[in-house]
Amino acid sequence: MGYQVLARKYRPQRFADVAGQDHVTRTLLNALSQDRIAHGYIFSGHRGIGKTTIARIVAQALNCRTAIGTPERPTPEPCGVCDSCVEIRQGNAVDVIEIDAATNRGIDEIRELRDAARYAPARDRYKIYILDEAHQITDAAFNALLKTLEEPPAHVIFMMATTQPEDIPQTIRSRCQHFSFHAVKFDDILAQLKMIAGHEEVTAENAALALLAEAGDGSMRDALSIMDQAIASAPTENGRAVLSTDQIRDLMGSVPNAVFERLLEAVAAGQSAELMEQLNLLVNAGHSPSSLARQMVRYLRNALMAKLGGEQTELLQISGDERARAGRTALLFTEEELTRNLQIVLRTFDDLNYRQEQRFHLELGLLKLIHAQRLLPLEELLSGVASGAGVRSASPASSPRTSAAPPRPAVSSAAPPAAPPLSPFGPGSGSWNAGPSLKQSAQASPVAEMERSAPFGSPAPVTEASAIRAPIPFPAASSPVTGYASGETLTEGSQALSPQVAVGAPSMESLRHAVGCALVEGGHESAAQLLGAGTWTLEATSLRIDVAGMGKKMLAITVNAAAEKIIRQELQRLGAPTRFMIAPGAGSGQTGAAQAGPSSLPPAAGSVREAALANPLVQRAKEIFKAEILSVIDLRAR
Ligand SMILES: [Zn+2]
Repeated sequence: MGYQVLARKYRPQRFADVAGQDHVTRTLLNALSQDRIAHGYIFSGHRGIGKTTIARIVAQALNCRTAIGTPERPTPEPCGVCDSCVEIRQGNAVDVIEIDAATNRGIDEIRELRDAARYAPARDRYKIYILDEAHQITDAAFNALLKTLEEPPAHVIFMMATTQPEDIPQTIRSRCQHFSFHAVKFDDILAQLKMIAGHEEVTAENAALALLAEAGDGSMRDALSIMDQAIASAPTENGRAVLSTDQIRDLMGSVPNAVFERLLEAVAAGQSAELMEQLNLLVNAGHSPSSLARQMVRYLRNALMAKLGGEQTELLQISGDERARAGRTALLFTEEELTRNLQIVLRTFDDLNYRQEQRFHLELGLLKLIHAQRLLPLEELLSGVASGAGVRSASPASSPRTSAAPPRPAVSSAAPPAAPPLSPFGPGSGSWNAGPSLKQSAQASPVAEMERSAPFGSPAPVTEASAIRAPIPFPAASSPVTGYASGETLTEGSQALSPQVAVGAPSMESLRHAVGCALVEGGHESAAQLLGAGTWTLEATSLRIDVAGMGKKMLAITVNAAAEKIIRQELQRLGAPTRFMIAPGAGSGQTGAAQAGPSSLPPAAGSVREAALANPLVQRAKEIFKAEILSVIDLRAR
């Protein structure tokens, strides 16, 4: 008998032997034992995970000549010994027709099939068609098949195996039972490889089999194909093939993951020279840059998954040793850094496919990993966190303000030291008009009305009759960041507090003030300025802040996740609703959209360019980068 590849030789013959598809086999066994057989089945999933195998087992179970419940066949599993079972297994049963739809996909073949399906099976109970790669069947051919599926003869069963179920027309799909197969888990593949190694009398170290299982990447057939190759090329000892990790790596042209662990340690330590020397060794040993990049992508992906879900996460389908390794690498970087590294190497890998000097591009890509570590996120830079030395590490939680500040800073007015220490909204040149939105919401909500009568931070209390709130001063963009700490600001802030005494709940202005302070302390001056100039509205259970003159994108950069967290914490501390929403663009929201008018636009909004140049964020960016604004594009105009 000729040589049979492992995947065929060890093809499961019983449902119980199919690895990793319990959800499918359980349902099918139930259907068989209850005799509830559908006329169409779709088996979908990646290649090499058991779709056609299961289709054949179903065919055997359906046409098995031994009755279910007899001693030879106690369960719906096929008996495996009767004529039908044997013939189906050998692929020469007359009533089980396997068609490779990749080559027989046209209307003529399907018509032929349809006509033949009308006749009763030659010998067995069912006439079974197994269509492999069913998504390749043409639309016209599917239409020809549709009629048969709509009114199927009682003896006909179609089973379609496909990697792309979405390419099968809905009309067909809705007439079939659809089973989606899972990728086979690493442990299941490894167990199968161990079993086969035992049967084949192959000596294999565990790590070598783990390497094969990993290379299968969820496909049993792929893993077995590589194992075939490995056994064929393995040295023998006393007539037994011996599989080692080195030999398998040679076969696959892969590098041990320890190498990537070392490379990434060099990245984390900023050792450019070490990184280049390691790469030099690898390239000199004959590893192609493209293959190295591909493996590194895989390795980084695993490290990132270990970071996200821990070493034991389901997201990792690798051996225990490799899990530990991925976990170690994950410790070297933050989640953001790992994500960025993965992106850089992935892009490098893409680039390598189009480049001549592959080695140089890989070197460049790896060096980028080191340099990227020194980069500061733009948003962090713009928000001013990096403006002072050592500020980056200061978190709002650890700042002294949190412990010193009273629970309700707005209410305590008598003693200046007890007042919130710094106001970000000190006197300044610019002023934004809040627009009538506040009035509107005040009519709707008593809470808002109460607050409107006691605006904090404005020079004087605003009367009930006033429809438009007094301008809220905020510092000029050019004023130094340290200006917030000036004693003047403090004094003015605490004086302005006085009308607040009567108010029980935290007022809008005290919220505004406290949030502004918290943002400044957290290093988010730009966010503080922006929100300070916005329109604050208390809605039923949430706070809405309309900010003018800034698009969604820039808003997201200015008030980033860190700033939002600070805002939420501050709101919570003050007992205010912690749900809030920051709406970009003047009058774009529901509140006061109609009445807002030009007054709610930034001052001197003569042109978009002027407005942009006046924006504190733009000015800050100009200052940091010593930049010049060449052109301004108004994306809202599109
Ligand atoms: Zn049988």
